[in-house]
Amino acid sequence: MESKKEKTFKFVVVGGGIAGVTCVEQLSSQFASEDVALITAGPHIKAVTNYKQVSRRLEEFDVEEKPSNVLEEKYSNLTIIHSAVKSLRTHTHCVETADGRVFGYEKLCICSGARPKLLTQENPHVLGIRDTDSAQEFQKRLSKAKRIVVVGNGGIALELVYEVRRCEVIWAVKDKAIGNTFFDAGAAQFLIPSLEGDKEQAAAPCKRQRFTTEEPAPDAAQTFTADEYSRGQNPDPVESGSALGPDWHRGIELQGAEQASRRVSVEYQCEVEHIFTSEEFLDSSKQTPKPDSGSWPVYVQLTNGETFGCDFVVSATGVVPNTEPFLHGNNFLLADDGGLQVDDHMMTSEPDVYAAGDVCSACWEHSPLWQQMRLWTQARQMGWYAGRCMAADILSEPIDLDFCFELFSHVTKFFNYKVVLLGKFNAQGLGSNHELLVRCTKGQEYVKVVLSGGRMVGAVLIGETDLEETFENLILNQMDLTAYGEELLNPDIDIEDYFD
Ligand code: FAD
Repeated sequence: MESKKEKTFKFVVVGGGIAGVTCVEQLSSQFASEDVALITAGPHIKAVTNYKQVSRRLEEFDVEEKPSNVLEEKYSNLTIIHSAVKSLRTHTHCVETADGRVFGYEKLCICSGARPKLLTQENPHVLGIRDTDSAQEFQKRLSKAKRIVVVGNGGIALELVYEVRRCEVIWAVKDKAIGNTFFDAGAAQFLIPSLEGDKEQAAAPCKRQRFTTEEPAPDAAQTFTADEYSRGQNPDPVESGSALGPDWHRGIELQGAEQASRRVSVEYQCEVEHIFTSEEFLDSSKQTPKPDSGSWPVYVQLTNGETFGCDFVVSATGVVPNTEPFLHGNNFLLADDGGLQVDDHMMTSEPDVYAAGDVCSACWEHSPLWQQMRLWTQARQMGWYAGRCMAADILSEPIDLDFCFELFSHVTKFFNYKVVLLGKFNAQGLGSNHELLVRCTKGQEYVKVVLSGGRMVGAVLIGETDLEETFENLILNQMDLTAYGEELLNPDIDIEDYFD
């Protein structure tokens, strides 16, 4: 492969999602006279726009899907290569792309993201949602559907169940409460009434990003149809586009073929036992369909003994890092979640190879107030920090772990409520060594504070609470709050003034 090298770049970044684009922007601007390459499978790149620092640690930004030449126009030293990386040879420092070209690198950063962990790969009735193509396929199938089964309890399932209209939704969650990845049972109780309300009102204004669903440029390489993708039949599963992010459903009608506006039933503490085609279901004498079950293209048997017929199943049970093309012949250490292990300089276990975003697993000793979650904000932060680490390495300069990894912070929207998550918001890893303070006003706000040893270590803020900045400071300061007790959440006290 060495002898075929078309060109050697100082820096090569793989992946045109938020992590890769942020990393390549950092490198292209800092090393304006060096050759930088971005190799990406999809025709578009993801660009961060309208970046806003909401508080010391909380950030908000829009994300736009753009044609990649926008980046090349901005950085004259940047070359964009539209092809998927097929293999990597770390000992000779080169990558081979699906179109047979070989490129050398001095430093490489892998930002190839992750793909949905599908319940089953081969079933045309099971969809995953990851990118614009798969979201469009979902919309198309939904428009003819009367009932769908959604499996999973993370952010995608939460948003989907809330947004779908005119189609019955059976929502299977493995936990005792909805949204377990983000909330505790109390917050789930606060949100549940939103699912019961009729969602016919006009959508509330939304300031976050929209996704273009324009056709790829005619010269764009390496695309596959949404149908192929949804059936897991794309020629190479890693050649997917970038992951969607917040508000992925904006601009696409998520409407089924039923009359009733919203009908959601939650099946708690269960997983999928088996998925049957309608023939298998009818043939199986063991199955006893409910009298009203009708005839459906697919049937889902849950571990709680219930079986539901539906038009299709949405598998929203997490993601698998896209590591496959990089592993063969190399010695990457992988984490339990399948991600490339990276240290506190975003370096993998292979020399000169870095990784950032959904593909990597942060394996340094974390700050007691931070944890990795495969989120938009962390993809940006990791991409940016990886670029700085690669630069520091080239320049032989020392670099400290960025302060964004000191405190977990995430701002998003669920069920149309603003949601802010800080630190160990779900008392992650604290065992019984913590206490909770909760304030809740039905339909308005839910505030939860996690205290450990009298110090605030985490918080969940749902609604327009205006508490994020003060709580962020209290968490970062680690001030002993024992003396304040429950007064901390007294709605009659202006807490901001209190701690000024
Ligand atoms: P990606 O955005 O997945 O980009 C990976 C890039 O690598 C793509 O350009 C792909 O084409 C390219 N690629 C892959 N393999 C190869 C290869 N072999 N060779 C070359 N290129 C390759 N996060 C939030 O913070 N808030 C949310 O509300 C939220 N909602 C979401 C909703 C949905 C439906 C989904 C799917 C995700 C959501 N996320 C959300 C998660 C968020 O989108 C991801 O964490 C983030 O996009 C990860 O960015 P990334 O750059 O690591 O990977």
